[in-house]
Amino acid sequence: MSDWEGACKRCGLCCFEKSVDLQGRCVTTRIPCRHLDIISRECRVYHKRLDVGEGCIKLTPGIVAEADWLPDGCAYRKTLGRWTRDEERG
Ligand code: SF4
Ligand code: SF4
Repeated sequence: MSDWEGACKRCGLCCFEKSVDLQGRCVTTRIPCRHLDIISRECRVYHKRLDVGEGCIKLTPGIVAEADWLPDGCAYRKTLGRWTRDEERG
């Protein structure tokens, strides 16, 4: 597992349906993906999640930087600044 992948806290917050509020902002609903184990917060189909039709994407620093749909509590969002600085330093 790379350091980047290890930064994900497996909280499952990104696996809840999203909605758009009246101000046009993306908000996370309380409705989980059908593949999310709501107790463990683990994806039941993790290794084939990109193929099951739920619109999952592989998160990279570049995608996280643009992904306003990721919840505020997402560990990637919290650590993105550090990763971006490391990339810029090479
Ligand atoms: S299929 Fe995708 S959205 Fe659904 S639980 Fe797995 S990783 Fe989350
Ligand atoms: S919200 Fe972020 S930290 Fe939590 S499971 Fe999703 S990608 Fe990982």
